[in-house]
Order: sequence, then C-alpha cells, then structure tokens
Amino acid sequence: MQLIMKYVYSFKEGNANMRELLGGKGANLAEMTNIGLPVPQGFTITTEACTKYYEDGREINQEIQDQINEYIVKMEEVTGKKFGDIENPLLVSVRSGARASMPGMMDTILNLGLNEEVVEVLAKKSNNERWAWDCYRRFIQMYSDVVMEVGKKYFEELIDQMKNKKGVTQDIELDANDLKELARQFKEEYKSKIGTDFPTDPKEQLMGAIKAVFRSWDNPRANVYRRDNDIPYSWGTAVNVQSMAFGNMGDDCGTGVAFTRDPATGEKGLFGEFLTNAQGEDVVAGVRTPMKIAEMAEKFPEAFEDFKNVCKTLEEHYRDMQDMEFTVEHGKLYMLQTRNGKRTAQAALKIACDLVDEGMRTEEEAVLMIEPRNLDTLLHPQFDQEALKATEPIGRGLGASPGAACGKVVFSAEDAEAWAAKKEKVILVRLETSPEDITGMKAAQGILTVRGGMTSHAAVVARGMGECCVSGCGEIVMDEANKKFTLKDKEYHEGDIISIDGTTGNIYEGEIPTVDAVIAGEFGRVMEWADKFRTLGVRTNADTPRDTKKAIELGAEGIGLCRTEHMFFDPERVFNLRKMIIAETVEDREKYLNNLIPYQKGDFKAMYKELKGLPMTVRYLDPPLHEFIPKTEPEMAELAESMGTTVEHVKEVCDSLHEFNPMMGHRGCRLAVTYPEIAKMQTRALIEAAIEVNEEDGLSIEPEIMIPLVGEVKELKFVKDVVVETAELIKKERNSTIKYHIGTMIEIPRAALTAGEIAKEAEFFSFGTNDLTQMTFGFSRDDAGKFLPSYYEHKIYEQDPFAKLDQIGVGKLVKMAVEDGKKTRPDIHLGICGEHGGDPSSVEFCNSIGLTYVSCSPFRVPIARLAAAQAAIKAGIEKKN
Ligand code: PEP
Ligand code: MG
Repeated sequence: MQLIMKYVYSFKEGNANMRELLGGKGANLAEMTNIGLPVPQGFTITTEACTKYYEDGREINQEIQDQINEYIVKMEEVTGKKFGDIENPLLVSVRSGARASMPGMMDTILNLGLNEEVVEVLAKKSNNERWAWDCYRRFIQMYSDVVMEVGKKYFEELIDQMKNKKGVTQDIELDANDLKELARQFKEEYKSKIGTDFPTDPKEQLMGAIKAVFRSWDNPRANVYRRDNDIPYSWGTAVNVQSMAFGNMGDDCGTGVAFTRDPATGEKGLFGEFLTNAQGEDVVAGVRTPMKIAEMAEKFPEAFEDFKNVCKTLEEHYRDMQDMEFTVEHGKLYMLQTRNGKRTAQAALKIACDLVDEGMRTEEEAVLMIEPRNLDTLLHPQFDQEALKATEPIGRGLGASPGAACGKVVFSAEDAEAWAAKKEKVILVRLETSPEDITGMKAAQGILTVRGGMTSHAAVVARGMGECCVSGCGEIVMDEANKKFTLKDKEYHEGDIISIDGTTGNIYEGEIPTVDAVIAGEFGRVMEWADKFRTLGVRTNADTPRDTKKAIELGAEGIGLCRTEHMFFDPERVFNLRKMIIAETVEDREKYLNNLIPYQKGDFKAMYKELKGLPMTVRYLDPPLHEFIPKTEPEMAELAESMGTTVEHVKEVCDSLHEFNPMMGHRGCRLAVTYPEIAKMQTRALIEAAIEVNEEDGLSIEPEIMIPLVGEVKELKFVKDVVVETAELIKKERNSTIKYHIGTMIEIPRAALTAGEIAKEAEFFSFGTNDLTQMTFGFSRDDAGKFLPSYYEHKIYEQDPFAKLDQIGVGKLVKMAVEDGKKTRPDIHLGICGEHGGDPSSVEFCNSIGLTYVSCSPFRVPIARLAAAQAAIKAGIEKKN
C-alpha cells in the first residue's frame, strides 16, 4: 500500500519544531497560533511539496492540488469567508518560507482572491471604495510581476503618470476613482504583455501564486544568497497561505515591522517602523517614510499595548531576539510573522551576553547563537551601511578576503608602492597576482583580480595579511598594458577611484566611506566561553612576525603552517634565491643558499620570539622554482652581472625551468629530492633559530618540520634523512639536545590512500586541503573560478570546494588517512592547514573526525575558535540524545 504524503498543514496542526517541513515562517505561524496569539488563520504547503514540484518538472501534481483545495475549504470554514464569494469574500496572502530565513530573496503576493465582482462587494461592505480598489490594483501589480513576470516598472510608470495627472506626489493621495482607473490600466497592460485576460477565478490565482513561490526558490538572487549562506538547494521552500488582515482600510489601520532588540547594536527595546493605512510591502519598499514604532503608542494605544505584550511573550518563548511583522485592522492587532531576527555581529554578541545575564540562555546556547562567519565583520573596517544602500555595484567577484577598501586604480605592484609612498590610497587591479606582487599588495588598500578563486594567490595572501580582496571578477576586460579595464561597457583608467567589498565581492565606482571596526567587550566574553567548550585546537597560517602577532592577539595557539617561500618575496632575498636557481653546480647552489640562511634564520627567530613558546610547523619550500625567476630583461641582466655570467645563459636556464603543468610539476618535496641542499639550508636556519631563541628566552621550543606534497613514503624518508642528518650535525656543533619533530602534509590523494605507511615516517599529518581538493577534483585551484559559475548554475556543485570542504569526496580521503595514520601511530598529531581550516562547516567536520587542530589565516582565528566550540557543543548534544 502506498503511503499518502501529507503536503498541507493548517496553522493549528504545526509547531515550531517542524521548520524542516513547514519552513521557518510556517512553523512559527503555527507556534504563534498554538500559544494563543492573534494570527489570521491559514495553511502551509510543505517544503516536500516544493521538492516534488521540481521533481515533477515544475508542476504541482494533482495529489498536492487536491490537498490544497481541501485546506481552502477548511480555511473557509474557520474564517467564515469564501473564495470569490459575493457575500463574504476570502482574500489571502501567499508567502514563501524556507527552513532558514532568506529575507527578500523570494516572492510574496497579497490580496489574492480579488476580481471585479469581489471588489465591488468589498467596497460596499466596507463602505470604503478606495480601500477595495487599492487592494485590487496592488494585487494585479504583484500577481503580474511575481506570477507572470511582467515586470514592476510598467505598473510603476502608470502610477507615476496618474500622480502627475492628478498633481499629487503620494500614492495615498489617489482616490477611489483613480485607483479604479489604475486597475483597469494594469489589466490592459497585463493583457498586452501576456496575451490573455487577467485571471478572475481565485483558485486559479492561488495555484498560479503557489507555483510562483516554488519557482522563486530557484531565482538568481535566491541561488546567490543560498551559496553565500550555506543553504542547500535541496531544502526547498514552503508556501504559506494566510487570510488577509488589512492595514490599508483607513486611518485606524496600519502595518509594521519590529525587532525586540536593535538588530544593529543589540540594545534591548522595541525597534521598528510603522505606517498607517498601508500594506506590508509599503514599509519594506520605502514608498512612504514610516514612523518610529514608539509613535504607534499615540495613534493606536490599545494595539500598541497588545503588541508590546506579544513581543514579551515571543521573546520569552523563543528565548531570542524576534523580528516580527504585524498589521492593525480597525485598531485590532494581527501577527503575520515572527522569526529570530537577523543581526550584525556586534548585535549578536551583545544579545547573546544579555540573554545569558537575563537568565534566558546558558553559555553553551549563547555560543551556538552566533554565526561564526559574521565575526569577520568585527575584524576589518567596513563600509558605512547607509552609504552602501545608496549605491549600486558596478560588478561582482568573489569576496575573497573581507574588509572594505577604496582607492585609486593602479595596475602594477610597482605603481601601488610608488603611489602609496606618495600617501595615495590605491586598489591594485590585476589579471591575477603572483609572488612578486606581494609588496604592492601590502601597499594597496585592497586587491581586485580578474582571475583566481578563493584559494588563488591573491586570496590566500590577502587573507593572510587581513587585506581586503575581491578575486575572480571575470566580467572585467583587462588591458594591463594600457593601464585600463572595461567593466559593463565603461572604461576605468589608472587613478580612477573605486571601492571594493571583500565580504560581498561587490565593486563600486567612487569612494564609499568606511567605518572602523569596533571590538566590543562582549566579543572577548563570548570567545572565552568558546575556548571553554571547544576541544579542537586552533592555530594560524602565518609567515611573518607581524601576522604571528596579530594571530596570537586573536587567540591562535601556535602556527600550523609557515609557508617558507613567502619569506623570500622581498626583492633582496628573491635576488639571492634566483642566484641559487641559476647556479649549475651543487657547490654554487650551496654557496648561494648559505647567503639565504641569515634571512631565513632571522625570520624564524623573530617568529619564535613572537610565539613565546607556542608551537610552529614550518613547511619546507613548496612552489616550483620558476615562480621565482626573473621575468624582464633588466632583471636578468642584473642577475647575470652579479653572477658573472651572460644574460643569454640566465635566459636559457629560465626557459629550461618552464613546465607544462607546474602545479603537478617540480615542486614540494620533489625540490628537496633533486636539490637536498635546499632542505639542508632550511633545516640549518630553523634548528639554529630554535636553539638560539631557547637559550636567549629560556624556552623549550621543539621545531616541527613539515615536508610538503608527499605521495610516497620513500620520498618522505629520503628528505627526512637529509633533515635528520643536518639537524644532528647542528646539535653536535651547538652542543644542544633540542628535540624536533618531522611530519608531512597530506595533500596528494596517494598520500591519503597510503597514510598508514606514511605515518611510519611522519610524526604528524597536516591536511593541505587546497592541493588535496585540487588533485581530487582534478581541476586547478587557480582556474576553477572560470567554470565553477556554470556548475553552480546547473546545480552540479552548490559551493566552491576550495572554500567549503567537500566532505563526501575529499573529506572521505581525509577521514581515511586519519584512521590509517592512527592505526600506525596512535599518538599522531593531526591538523588541517588548507583554507578550509577557517570555514565553519569544515571545522565541524574536522572536529567530528578527531583532528587535533585546525589552522587558518590570522583574521579567521576567532571564527575557527567559535566554530570549534559549536562543533563540540553540538557533538555533545548529539551524544546525549
Ligand atoms: C594546501 O595545499 O592545502 C596548503 C596549505 O598548501 P598551499 O596552499 O601552500 O599549496
Ligand atoms: Mg599545498
């Protein structure tokens, strides 16, 4: 026997725990009904019906339609009104409501059920002709826009024409006849665009509206919002059909939205807006300027008292700040919606702390209430929200490193430095960045690149520096040679001012004012709670003393990844490194490498001093050497002269380093296999640094040496032997008993598959999930940005796998490697140092598979701490259940 699915629930049948099925709005309407609040009655069509709609080729099947019709009848019984009735007509609103709230992303239709006949009845019955026609013209407008996708602007033009004709500026100044005429014009417009008459049958209108709401789940803005907020496409939206309460029936009516606490600051107290004689969309659309909610007390004293009580009831019931929509019809209050209000990071922290102090929440619950990602905004300067609202972006890339930056466009790292030296603020706009750009990147306020994804060079380096970066804006047509780019048909030249938002990825023309981020006292308090609850360690990816200091300030417990190649970016250092690369004999190479030791050792010492005894994992040279070679004639000439050779020879060597696929080429531990002297140099710099800092500062540092890109245990063993031999030699020279640890990165699928073997030689694993993702998917981390948008569009992937760990595939390899590694070496130390180490859902995964720590860029440390705490608390709750 086939089970009959229930696709429709009346508000009386649901409750707050049913959000998966009824969506947030539906579940809360049911809950409000249950606790006796004044809610206009109705029903919710489930998220499963939405999924079915898509499965059935975007059709609402007969079974679901039958259930909807059944519930219309029930609703008619409850309200005593009937669809299309000329005695007592029922009008409804149709609204979306997903499991996670997606404000403004999907569609709403009000006043459904109207036709010419019904309008006349309403006009007569209410003795309010203006109101009746206002409802009708609004309905035609919304239905045409949302259901038939005619477009708002035609109707707005007609309204404007009418206002001009009447010599008025406000919608409410139009009288009943004007609105009647508008309704006629709207219907004409509808017919000319769609080719059929505007539907008069309320049931037909309703099915059309429900379909439109289901369809809006897949509209472009909803898709983008979901990707940004980690909401799976498969969830679908529910649809709420609710009998209308009218805020536009006269001056004793109105509508409003309000929060129980200020969503920007978290301050306790009613915060919101109210409009008399209006419907919900008027408040949101800003057609008229609403009044402050407090003023409602004078106009509607009774409804306001009721509303205050409702707010108290709801806050106490949900134990969280509520965001509510309501309507007052002839002085009586109706609740249309409540949900946990969206809030800024600052407000989130304050509310969480206040709720603990008010005895409403435990510390664990408070920690769970804060969206880790939002903390980002507390750590970087931000654009002034008001100014942003007034400006349209000119383009959008990936929000690769949060923050807000304005400045003059420059096209090269040298120009960035030169302009910055003249105290100019600049945005470095590049096709893509490379290691040589680092100083220019530092000098700039922000970085904008045409190519590259979330783990591109620009993104990783910018995040490391805490600098704003928008990467991968493929819409830009770049002309670096002529120092200009084109975006949306407009040319931008060197010196033009632009603003970029590293959180949203938006690009703006001109200067948008910024405000400094303030870290309120609650921030520290919540972080203390988080540290109390988490079991996962949090380290940072840092390779300069400055980044190390910042990361420790933000709570890092050590360095999980020091990318040593970043230490050679400085022009003087790279010059010496180039000599080593061009050298042809081991002796020469060693000679030039020896020149590098003081730099590298100096850096290690400075970092160890910043760390004050906290651990540091040092990763040996990783990128292909050709990334460092000179690119221009003058650079080659300078190098040739300094080495006593010819430019032609330098050129020849540089050409010989060319690789067809450098990411899979001569890099990682392969460099140390061919040139063991590089590993020797790095070992000397590191061990000597540690011995000296231990002596100078009375510490007992045990260096952690990490060999990158291992795929075979024997290659690890080979490099390890070089390291051990050198380290032991230095110990003898220095008469030291220093301990050190040698481990590897797991970033090649073969390493994950043979982790049991590799663990025989490695004391620790650090999962390099940037490379592991790249190699598991088989696409380049630097080029994926070009085609991933098509994958999102076709729902092949919902998320950038370089930003959010692919737990099914890459995660399986990680999990397997953890298990096999532990079998060989039960006390193996396990970390992750790919960009995923700072992504909340990936952190939760790392916690679940038993990693020791996550490591992420300095500015993401607080996010990782909070995410780790949430993971531990959730795991505890699951265990209990
Ligand atoms: C990685 O591959 O995940 C990693 C951390 O190393 P890199 O990004 O430097 O290749
Ligand atoms: Mg790597």
